[in-house]
Amino acid sequence: MRYSQLFGKTRKEPPKDAQIASHKLLVQGGFVHQTAAGIYSYLPLGFYVLWKVDAIIRDELARRGVQHMVMPFVHPVSLWKETGRREKMDDILATFDAAHGGEYLLAPTHEETVTDLARTFIESYRDLPVIVNQNQWKYRDELRVSGGLLRTREFLMQDAYSFDKDEEGMSQSFELMSEAYHDIFDRIGLDIIVVRADSGTMGGSNSEEFMVVSDVGEDTVFVCEECNEGINAEAGENDNKCPKCKKALKEKKAIELGHVFQLGTCYAESMGANFNDEDGKSKPLHMGCFGIGISRVIAAIAEASHDDKGIVWPESVAPFNAHIVTIGDSEEVVEMAEDVYDELWDMGIETLLDDRDASAGEKLADADLIGVPHRIVVSAKSIKAGGVEYKSRNSKDAKVVPKEEIMDCITPGVLDEVREILGDNLGI
Ligand SMILES: [Zn+2]
Repeated sequence: MRYSQLFGKTRKEPPKDAQIASHKLLVQGGFVHQTAAGIYSYLPLGFYVLWKVDAIIRDELARRGVQHMVMPFVHPVSLWKETGRREKMDDILATFDAAHGGEYLLAPTHEETVTDLARTFIESYRDLPVIVNQNQWKYRDELRVSGGLLRTREFLMQDAYSFDKDEEGMSQSFELMSEAYHDIFDRIGLDIIVVRADSGTMGGSNSEEFMVVSDVGEDTVFVCEECNEGINAEAGENDNKCPKCKKALKEKKAIELGHVFQLGTCYAESMGANFNDEDGKSKPLHMGCFGIGISRVIAAIAEASHDDKGIVWPESVAPFNAHIVTIGDSEEVVEMAEDVYDELWDMGIETLLDDRDASAGEKLADADLIGVPHRIVVSAKSIKAGGVEYKSRNSKDAKVVPKEEIMDCITPGVLDEVREILGDNLGI
């Protein structure tokens, strides 16, 4: 991609209402644009990040046998009356009357829709267990929104639903998803704490929140600095000790990014989602639900990984792997930049080439703001010194390397990502 043709531009000033770093930087960097209050367009740079987070989630779930599908964003209100949530969630539901008749709503979540599918397609214990997933847009009609992508009305969510024949199966699906979430956040590069809520009846935890400690978070958690165990606010206030190692807990602000939940049979019972068990009896399905706020993850990464110049994207979710900046427009500079650009794309390195007729200062500032992990500067000076100038976004030091060696600077990080996806069978 050539920066001169990129749809969406960096901005000098942050939005007036922006209070937090991720909001400022994602708008200034040209990643997102607010179309209406709490409703965002993802411009190409922002969409590439979204796409990569989405792909990591799909990969970790698919390798565990979770099946991907997509349910509608518009639901008939009648489905929501079956569970009583039409009334219960009234304050955040956006409903409308269709021109041809019928009342509909914009989905804030999908338990009703997936339970309707389950009662249609699951007949017998032989169909179980099953976990289905979608990465789908949601809408919550919140009165007030602020904080950029941290708190929006419309947002992209990964939401998976498990169906099992009994509590034991439900708890196994829960463990599988919880493990997947650890691996997902690991690959995304976020340092997660897990806050458990124990249920007396099931012997294990029936709900876990995946959170990242951040000063701009809206939740309060108590974290053990010894073993990183997280405790929710109520439990932490009662007994200021870590349940694992008995060390003192520290109060912190956190952003909730994911939630895994054992729902039991409540949805199946209210909607009549039953299956025939081995003993010939009809029984309600045991259900679990598992969600990650993908839009919010992007804000959390920008919060966790930035400096005063811009975002520092982790390799795994960066909009591009490499960013070439030309300084000057002499024939030798343009030729070398184009050579490196073609070669990197040929090697599978997604590369942005800043070919604009702009000052060196402006181009380098934009490169820092956008935060691509590997920066390559091509100038008359670098050519005279023997090649191109390489700098990693998270290091202060730049070095000049012959252009043939630029791949050696970039690939270790990129290859880690490829290995992650393909396993060790790659032989590299
Ligand atoms: Zn501890």
